[in-house]
Amino acid sequence: MGLIVQKFGGSSVADADKIRNVSRIITETYRRGHSVVAVLSAQGDTTDDLIEKAKEINPNASRREMDMLLSTGEQISCSLCAMAIEAMGYPVISLTGWQAGMRTNSNYSNARISRINTERIQNELDKKSIVIVTGFQGINKYDDITTLGRGGSDTSAVALAAALHADLCQIYTDVDGVYTADPRHVKGARKLEEITFDEMLELATLGAQVLHNRSVEMAKRYNVNLEVISSFSGNPGTKVKEVVKKMEKTHVSGVAKDKDIARLALVGLADQPGIAFKIFSLLAKEKVNVDIILQSIGRGESKDISFTVAKGDKELAKKVLEDNKEYLGFDHIDVNDEIAKVSIVGAGMINNPGVAAKMFEALYNGGINIHMISTSEIKVSVLVDVADADRAVQVIHDKFFSEING
Ligand code: ADP
Ligand code: ASP
Ligand code: MG
Repeated sequence: MGLIVQKFGGSSVADADKIRNVSRIITETYRRGHSVVAVLSAQGDTTDDLIEKAKEINPNASRREMDMLLSTGEQISCSLCAMAIEAMGYPVISLTGWQAGMRTNSNYSNARISRINTERIQNELDKKSIVIVTGFQGINKYDDITTLGRGGSDTSAVALAAALHADLCQIYTDVDGVYTADPRHVKGARKLEEITFDEMLELATLGAQVLHNRSVEMAKRYNVNLEVISSFSGNPGTKVKEVVKKMEKTHVSGVAKDKDIARLALVGLADQPGIAFKIFSLLAKEKVNVDIILQSIGRGESKDISFTVAKGDKELAKKVLEDNKEYLGFDHIDVNDEIAKVSIVGAGMINNPGVAAKMFEALYNGGINIHMISTSEIKVSVLVDVADADRAVQVIHDKFFSEING
């Protein structure tokens, strides 16, 4: 008997039948004697549709007004789910982010949760009600509605689980758990019984959208008992935890892909000390996050520096650098957004020097050219042409996992 936070993603609540299905999962948990807080996303493609609607009216709408609009999607799914549970005869109440005490900073469209005042939820739980909370949103110090960034309902759920000291946080979705690669696109992808917070954080950050990366960060910080599970199949899911029982013999847990990036190259920079400092401090001042960086060996007096940014930051990064062309002293900027980052993640790779070579061999055998490489203790990322990205994931996955599947 305990408190369980259950989060249901957009595809799990996409229509009336699916809302009834989710309501059954919630009420069965309640009938087993647990207190239940359910966090819901907007139905199906609602959030995308709302963004399109806004663009028709004003393509440059302020982020505050966008948050006002986008937060409504979750309000619809939560009220409908509460109605379904009401019809089943259970005590239930739906709450918006602000009613649920979800306070955030004022970074509209990508707000961070600052604290949760759990009093209202706790009162409702004490009255034995099932509580349904809108994911993805909160309010800031001006009492304005904020949203947490795309995919942010996972973070709402984990934050609530942490604040309420829940016994378990279940992320219900449209696949059976966390796989070695996206099971919708990669043949032979297999479900992991468990994965460490660190590996999951890397996978989520490197493009595996199954969990919002900030939700994993938060689960690690507050040691939330976290599980990813299907809304539909009834199969056991994947446990995400600090330490897992066994490492795979390949030492790689998964392969991820991110197409949402662009590569900028500053060509013909003077080969002098201080250039990298100047470039990246200009970008940092504009809050442009830089990922992989590559500097060429100087050719005579000049060198090139290339780096990647999120696609959304491409224009800003280019403008900042071009505005400072004289100060930096380069010939021209080359921009390429027809690229993708493909990564392998695994806590076991640090002691296994052969892992990166094995990844490069897979790409070589697939005839796929690598533009840039970056490594850390638990990941290796390569930049490839976007046209090669899906195939790159498949050949890398085959290389590391075929013997396990075969
Ligand atoms: P939800 O609407 O439930 O939040 P998302 O679409 O955000 O669901 O995330 C689930 C999707 O993540 C899956 O349908 C799958 O295609 C994708 N995905 C990408 N990488 C992985 C992975 N390694 N394991 C499982 N799913 C993944
Ligand atoms: N509805 C929001 C989105 O589509 C939040 C979420 O689904 O987690 O991004
Ligand atoms: Mg999601």
